[in-house]
Amino acid sequence: MEKQAIVMSGIRPTGFLHLGNYFGAVRNYVRMQSEYTCYFMVADLHALTTHPDTSELKKNVSRVLAENIACGLNPDKAAFYCQSHVPETSELYLYLNMLAYKGELEKTPTFKDKVRLQPDNVNAGLLTYPVLQAADILLHRATLVPVGKDQEQHLEMSRNFANRFNHRYGEIFPEPHAFNYGDELIKVPSLDGAGKMSKSENQYATLYLSDEDELIRKKVMKAKTDSGPTTPNSEKPDYIANLFLLMELVSAPDVTKKFEDDFNNCTIRYGDMKKQLAEDMVAFIAPVREKAEAIRNDEKYLKEIMEKGAAKARASAQVTMALVKEAIGLNYY
Ligand code: ADP
Repeated sequence: MEKQAIVMSGIRPTGFLHLGNYFGAVRNYVRMQSEYTCYFMVADLHALTTHPDTSELKKNVSRVLAENIACGLNPDKAAFYCQSHVPETSELYLYLNMLAYKGELEKTPTFKDKVRLQPDNVNAGLLTYPVLQAADILLHRATLVPVGKDQEQHLEMSRNFANRFNHRYGEIFPEPHAFNYGDELIKVPSLDGAGKMSKSENQYATLYLSDEDELIRKKVMKAKTDSGPTTPNSEKPDYIANLFLLMELVSAPDVTKKFEDDFNNCTIRYGDMKKQLAEDMVAFIAPVREKAEAIRNDEKYLKEIMEKGAAKARASAQVTMALVKEAIGLNYY
């Protein structure tokens, strides 16, 4: 039988999951787990680069686990683990750091963004974030990485590090590629039209999978609109295009089409569109929220999942690390 492609991805435990995490990443995890060998992780080490205060870490790890499972991730199918429970990650990170150059790391747009956001904590971990991410992926010699559009450039860096390693020490790593079932990687826009939805920024413009129904309605109704188009078939301003994009994600196709038609013939009422979007969003989020709440406090269950996941991940990691050490020449005796 042909060997299944290997899939790897992770989410940082830095807060509640939001619609961007779901449509950019988790939705793909749930589909991929039945078709591939999958490793999914809670990226707690990555979280330390931006969230040095660990008082909320355990709670956040439990949330990410519970919310992924509530979305349909099945820990019996995929290895679902915590990054720090697989210490081989840190070992590979160290070797890859020797192949990553300061100049290319400093140029990474996400690094520049983070320097802007936390000028008083520009730590080396922040700079080498793409190297740790490459280690997560290459540790399982994964080729498919389900992520949102914001991660596209990091994947290119992972490929560079893999190719550099292969070139210097011998062919160990296949090239990893960002993956989405649709044609393109997804970017779920924030409700205020400024950038992407994100866990830690702009909480009122982000829809969380834990938001209560009333809060979802409030956030959607507050989204920016205008008095509507005056010329038929005109181009949509960004903030209106974003509302349509959100609607495409959660509403029925004929509902979206009705509002598209209304927009094109200048009869659209944005108030009605947002009411519809809010109700469809509530119908989408409420079942996930309720399921996650039930799982989140079941410590015994979550611990079992993490242990089982770490065992599967370590087995895969140890095979790779044996190859890596031999290739580098670190197998003296
Ligand atoms: P965040 O940026 O919210 O802290 P993470 O860095 O933990 O999220 O990313 C977890 C996954 O969610 C990644 O695959 C990332 O590409 C995806 N993701 C995050 N925000 C969005 C978004 N707004 N649209 C699409 N995908 C996203």
